[in-house]
Amino acid sequence: MRRPIVIGNWKLHGDQQFVSGLLRELMTGWVGVHRAEVVICPSYIHVDMACRALGHSNIGLGAQDVSPFIEGAYTGEVSAAMLHDLGCQYAIIGHSERRRWYGETNELIARKFESAQEARLVPILCVGESAKEREQGITLDVIDRQIKAVADYCSYERIARGVIAYEPLWAVGTGKIASPQQAQQVHEFIRDRLGAAGVVTRIVYGGSVTPQNARAMFEMPDIDGALVGGAALRANDFLEICRAAE
Ligand code: PEP
Repeated sequence: MRRPIVIGNWKLHGDQQFVSGLLRELMTGWVGVHRAEVVICPSYIHVDMACRALGHSNIGLGAQDVSPFIEGAYTGEVSAAMLHDLGCQYAIIGHSERRRWYGETNELIARKFESAQEARLVPILCVGESAKEREQGITLDVIDRQIKAVADYCSYERIARGVIAYEPLWAVGTGKIASPQQAQQVHEFIRDRLGAAGVVTRIVYGGSVTPQNARAMFEMPDIDGALVGGAALRANDFLEICRAAE
């Protein structure tokens, strides 16, 4: 019922030569009809280039963030409408690196979520607990708070129309992946919180996913794909993860 989705987050990596090479390798490796949807999120500066390169391929395009503002005197910002105009269909919202390095609060993330949806981008809302919060046994409370902050602003129904990425902070970029059972417990909780609308919501796992560990994750009933960082920069690894989601 839910189409699997694998999203590559390229973060702050690559020059034009690297990006064009990676795009080429992905397009030759992902031809034909597939059950899983594949989306890549290059840096803003490479979005246009990626859109041209992807052409009519079946690989989708997303941005790594959006401005909460629609337009105006906001130097350095990129609006959701600008990204949609360039060819993006998705936007990552509330990634833990933005929460951590740029002090993004749940309230700001809620505004960004709404701004993405208003511009017809599908928001990929990232939530996750720190190692300390997991040790304290408050993982589900933290996730609940993060989702509720967006729901209070936009409603659970609207969240259910996006994609949710469960990314435990201790697993992002660390090589330490959550066990499939740990992830499944949180995914099931999130789906429950979304109510009836959550049945169709795609909830993906992120945090040190590799070709070696992806399949076990995807076998869990509430894990609908992955948000992939490091491994998304290597076409063969990324494509293997995509195939595991099929
Ligand atoms: C991410 O950036 O969202 C991520 C999950 O990174 P990594 O796969 O490198 O842990």
